[in-house]
Amino acid sequence: MTERTTFEELYATGAPWDTGRPQRALAEMAERITGSILDAGCGTGENALFLAERGHSVMGIDFLEEPIQRAKRKCAERGLKASFLVKNALTLEHWTERFDTVLDSGLFHVFDDDERERYVQGLSVVLKPGGRLFLLCFSDEVPGTQGPRRVSQLELREAFAQGWTVESIERSRFEVRPEFETAFPGGPQAWFLVAQRTDG
Ligand code: SAH
Repeated sequence: MTERTTFEELYATGAPWDTGRPQRALAEMAERITGSILDAGCGTGENALFLAERGHSVMGIDFLEEPIQRAKRKCAERGLKASFLVKNALTLEHWTERFDTVLDSGLFHVFDDDERERYVQGLSVVLKPGGRLFLLCFSDEVPGTQGPRRVSQLELREAFAQGWTVESIERSRFEVRPEFETAFPGGPQAWFLVAQRTDG
């Protein structure tokens, strides 16, 4: 797992993904997003707040205090209603909350193999049967080694092989702050996965 301190340092200096706007890939999917939403690894909350503004009941979780405080502040400033909670996404399995939709923008690719398994198991607990996961992760098409772990389509299919129907995996992009565009021209290549939780 990427260390907490790495994330803390990135938030202190301006995290690449923390653009002050929702990720375009997610915003374009908004029509398909329904019901109550969990934003796992929500950071400072732009995606969650975008969906709250569209009338969804949204809860954002992140394991760091600082981005959660920022998300709460933005929520209040914008007069929106959403919940933000400091919580480790690797503990979802033991949670009692349930959601119609889970959003993951840049969390899945943080985890190592074991954590990945634990995380996906937890997702299948908190997501109601028939609910959908919308997941945006670094793809294996990102050149170089800067940034998080690269994820292949095959790895995504393997991670969601049991108890899920993978509906689509499409080429997409992360948006990053302007100062990171030299490192990632056009934004880092991403996979956008939509998967439905089935039984079993
Ligand atoms: N979804 C946000 C942030 C993406 S960066 C956005 O799109 O802007 C990944 C986020 O996951 C960071 O905010 C980091 O603090 C958080 N994170 C990393 N590991 C986590 C874990 N185990 N549980 C919860 N959050 C985690």
